[in-house]
Amino acid sequence: MQKEVQDIAENIRKVRETIARSAEKSGRKPEDITLIAVTKTVEPERINEAIRCGITELGENRVQELLGKYDQIENRENIHFHLIGRLQTNKVKYIIDKVTLIHSVDSQRLLLEIEKQAAKHDKVQDILLEINLSGEPQKGGMPPEELDSALQLCSTLSHVRVLGLMTVPPVSDSLTKNSRYFQNLQQLFVDTCKKTYDNVHMSLLSMGMSADYDAAIESGSNMVRVGSAIFGKRK
Ligand SMILES: *Cc1c(COP(=O)(O)O)cnc(C)c1O
Repeated sequence: MQKEVQDIAENIRKVRETIARSAEKSGRKPEDITLIAVTKTVEPERINEAIRCGITELGENRVQELLGKYDQIENRENIHFHLIGRLQTNKVKYIIDKVTLIHSVDSQRLLLEIEKQAAKHDKVQDILLEINLSGEPQKGGMPPEELDSALQLCSTLSHVRVLGLMTVPPVSDSLTKNSRYFQNLQQLFVDTCKKTYDNVHMSLLSMGMSADYDAAIESGSNMVRVGSAIFGKRK
């Protein structure tokens, strides 16, 4: 236990160092990059340790898991929860009052449900649109060609605000190939920034995980989702 705690502190220190280095390489400041600690399969005790090391952003990819841990997270009023995994429309109601940012919005149906539930809570829900660049059918995310119509829909929704884009490249691909996905998403982000839609404020590019967050930052990411590099390998 004591060793694990030490490891978490040390791992976070290393990740922050790498983030700083990659940010500087791409002409930005370390504080321009948001680190999300991905806590799937991690027990609340260890999540709280990360919080004591200064982590304020937590990413969960399953609704059930987020709800199960929620009450055990310390200092919760200062913590932001991010939903980063596939979200079923029937689960939106359980998390709408708990999450700061939903990264994995990939259909018009889901957008409409978020609008409906956010309206009930008198909340404007910040979201990212997830883009599937590899075309893998089992992966979440909308094809890039659907982005424009999703943004047009968002411009009619008063309880949804789009802050940017997110992607998860294929697991088995090489770093070089992932860099290409990252560059493609950055290009899409830049192109989208040039257009104006109501309720769309493009500022966040969520890409990069433990294996490739440095490459992602160098390709323009400003939000990285890091799990195993902080908490160790998942069982
Ligand atoms: C699990 C997960 C991560 C973090 O993965 P690591 O390789 O452990 O850093 C990031 N994003 C999403 C969407 C995930 O599901």
